[in-house]
Amino acid sequence: MTRVAIPLCALALAGCSTGGEETKAPGAGLHARMLVLDTHLDTPLHFGRQGWRFADRHALATDLSQLDIPRMRDGALDGGFFAIYTAQGPLTPQGYADALAFARKRSDLIDRVIAENSGVMGVALTADDARRLNAAGKLIAFKSMENSYPLGEDLSLLAEFHGKGVRLAGPVHSLNNQFADSATDKPRWNGLSPLGRQWVAEMNRLGIVIDASHSSDAAFDQILALSKYPILLSHSSLRSAHAHPRNLDEDRLRRLAEKGGAMCISTIFMSEMNLSPERAELFGKYEQIETMPPAEQAELTRRWRDLDTRETMWAADFDAYIKMVLRAIEVGGVDHICFGADWDGGGGLRGIEDISALPKVTERLKAAGYSDADIEKMWSGNILRVLAAQGK
Ligand SMILES: [Zn+2]
Repeated sequence: MTRVAIPLCALALAGCSTGGEETKAPGAGLHARMLVLDTHLDTPLHFGRQGWRFADRHALATDLSQLDIPRMRDGALDGGFFAIYTAQGPLTPQGYADALAFARKRSDLIDRVIAENSGVMGVALTADDARRLNAAGKLIAFKSMENSYPLGEDLSLLAEFHGKGVRLAGPVHSLNNQFADSATDKPRWNGLSPLGRQWVAEMNRLGIVIDASHSSDAAFDQILALSKYPILLSHSSLRSAHAHPRNLDEDRLRRLAEKGGAMCISTIFMSEMNLSPERAELFGKYEQIETMPPAEQAELTRRWRDLDTRETMWAADFDAYIKMVLRAIEVGGVDHICFGADWDGGGGLRGIEDISALPKVTERLKAAGYSDADIEKMWSGNILRVLAAQGK
């Protein structure tokens, strides 16, 4: 398919809004009309920061966040899954207790921020909720869990988090835990642990969508075989774009699709992560950003952006990203692709630095020949279909 040139205003959409509809990129109007969701938003990392409000507009030059309510409007991102991300710690009673306390607090923080903004956004537990909120012009807040480590060995806690509104959860993060092997650790269980198999059954019983991003290949295979319902990968890239164990190979994408699931495409691991000593130091600080006074946050941003002028964390750019997205659609089909860029969790590339760039993605899909209906399936329909299929 041919690729059309993108009108300049698509690259600076905010500056186009005064020019009337006809001067916007053709994809922009379409993008704004569609229901657009992202399956992995790490923005709760910013929710607890001193002096930072989700309702305020932030700029990349002066703040490290990639998402806030004004920029959700810019990018016509209607909502997504706000993650309770818990870093992996020791597999001990104390480790589990600390992680559980953290995850409960993080869940409460997400609730608080949604409640503070209840005039413009609402909690979604079902696909119907998402459509109802969208029809009412409100942003959609689903809740997810990245890493089930906080559950310890007590699977009854899954029901507690389901009660708190969690509708998508992954077993593991970047290190092996009590449930599964991570894609980025050495095999311990060769897939799921015995407890991990029970975790799958309990997820199915409760109707929480299983998220296999970060799971090892063997864990992915076992989840796919065991789960009674379709699963998602909330933020994964293709291994054919970059050979990294965190990415999904094309054969597994085909098998995911055969089982009715969907892969939400991320912007990460399309190259090796350039974690230079300086970036590693800043990344470590970034994970602690909510404990910093505003002046220290500003200093971290200044150092991060200064480093950006000398080196990037990822070598790929927007064109490479689109190439991977189109390949994923070719392999998985329009019914099995969705989007989860990993905003505020390490995502973002040159040309797609924050969510205000999302209309450009629709523009490229349109240029590649996909119908409006197919594009909307990829932005939200496939996610909502998988969600609605749980327990059926
Ligand atoms: Zn992640």
